[in-house]
Amino acid sequence: MTIAGGCYCGALRYEITGDFPWRALCLCKTCQKISGGAGNLFIGIEARQFRYTQGEPRTYRREGDGFIPTREFCGTCGVHIAGRLIQIPEGVVVKIGTLDDPSVFEGPVRVFWTQDKQPYHLLPADAEIYATLPGR
Ligand SMILES: [Zn+2]
Ligand SMILES: [Zn+2]
Repeated sequence: MTIAGGCYCGALRYEITGDFPWRALCLCKTCQKISGGAGNLFIGIEARQFRYTQGEPRTYRREGDGFIPTREFCGTCGVHIAGRLIQIPEGVVVKIGTLDDPSVFEGPVRVFWTQDKQPYHLLPADAEIYATLPGR
């Protein structure tokens, strides 16, 4: 399967090939800030499954140690497309709202960082729920 997506203004376009069983929702404070408040819906895939077909993203990584993602976003419209961790160079996460057809996501199977959850955040019934991250 090949699916495509892009930013709001169209300067950035990308393509994903293959399956994406790793579907998740993150409710951490950072994802609340970046998503607009609802949390971050994303797929985790291997880096080789993802490529930009148009444009070059700007990147930003907040200073600090630990699992701080490098965020890839459009320098014109500001929409955040993807994130990568220095510790996991073989992987990339892609934000669902940027897919041309977000319905292919079919909902998260894992939810992370529910310790930061707001009372108005709803959890999907059948998902694996983690207070922070798996194994912590
Ligand atoms: Zn854009
Ligand atoms: Zn998060």
